[in-house]
Amino acid sequence: MGPFEMIEKHGDHETVLFCHDKNVGLKAIIAIHNTALGPALGGTRMWNYKTEEDALTDVLRLSKGMTYKASAAGLNLGGGKAVIIGDPKTQKSEGLFRAFGQYVNSLNGKYITAEDVGTTVNDMENIYMETPWVTGIPKAFGGSGDPSPYTAHGVLMGIKAAASEKFGTDSLKGMRVAVQGLGNVGSNLVKYLVEEGAKVIVSDIDQTRVKMAHDIYKVEIVAPDQILGVECDIQAPCAMGAIINDETILKFKCKVIAGGANNQLAEARHGDQLRELGILYAPDYVVNAGGLMNVFVELEGYSPERAFDKTKKVYDNVKKVFEIAKRDHIGSHTAADRLAEERIKTIGALKQKHPGKTSRSFTTLKEVFNR
Ligand code: NAD
Repeated sequence: MGPFEMIEKHGDHETVLFCHDKNVGLKAIIAIHNTALGPALGGTRMWNYKTEEDALTDVLRLSKGMTYKASAAGLNLGGGKAVIIGDPKTQKSEGLFRAFGQYVNSLNGKYITAEDVGTTVNDMENIYMETPWVTGIPKAFGGSGDPSPYTAHGVLMGIKAAASEKFGTDSLKGMRVAVQGLGNVGSNLVKYLVEEGAKVIVSDIDQTRVKMAHDIYKVEIVAPDQILGVECDIQAPCAMGAIINDETILKFKCKVIAGGANNQLAEARHGDQLRELGILYAPDYVVNAGGLMNVFVELEGYSPERAFDKTKKVYDNVKKVFEIAKRDHIGSHTAADRLAEERIKTIGALKQKHPGKTSRSFTTLKEVFNR
């Protein structure tokens, strides 16, 4: 399949930029899916893709996902993403990231980049040498640092919203919550859950992480192959994607699934199946938007307090999703997409009516970078 056919297949992307620089070995693609709400923000992934087609598929899919995530989060941001083709362990150089930074700069702020799988704060610093359109830069440059605590706090808000919907109370006191994965997000979430008085059950394939959680919080431990089937009120997946699939779906013994992991449903039909089973699913990209909210605050001029405060919005956003699901008699995963699409339509139309006016965030962004 040729690149244009692939772009058509994946939706109506506004811009797809192929970046090439032989001298530094740069092969990258930047995809801007939609900028109706604001500049397209999304990380740069560096990965040893088997084929260029794989890289294009990934960037088209991920950039579209960012449009939905930003919109459902209520942010004035569009969706974009970039991929650099290469091995992040052996093929990184200052020149590579600076050349990539020049391509980012050529888009004049229509695309803003950040860290992602295979890229680090150091790489962002090199991109920053060539363009102001980058977030996730070191704290010394006014950056926002590690997003995980903010993501985890947003996840807690998502869990509380789902509990309120399912159990009629958002107090987690005494509730059994299972957490799969004790990484950056999971470990912070466990801390919040324990503070809320929840009874937490954890699992990780890394035994040092399990031991640490047990030593600090005295949480219950189960083996990695047991966690999804554990008897509990709420499952909070915080490890890998596609954990709700044909093999696992009948094993869940919970009333709610709400966690930080990306792409939890193997396929959309699994979301419908959860609904039939009476398990309330809080859609992942609405629940885990706290990290994106944190980065957004960086664009306005960073304040940790404001970022933390913003993550509380996840509660309302998840509630809105459940309202749409009830209104339209659909699964919550479909309702999340509808929430995102409705906002793009309403706010996009507003902007067309008053084309001279840019959104506040965009204006502020310019101010920040022109200082
Ligand atoms: P991480 O790599 O720090 O942690 C993942 C943890 O899961 C690790 O401790 C790993 O050992 C564990 N794990 C892997 N397979 C497992 C299994 N089968 N059973 C139990 N544990 C297992 O990653 P993270 O940053 O904490 O992110 C977790 C998830 O949240 C990912 O899906 C990520 O895409 C998503 N997410 C993270 C952020 C963020 O701010 N970090 C934001 C949005 C979404």
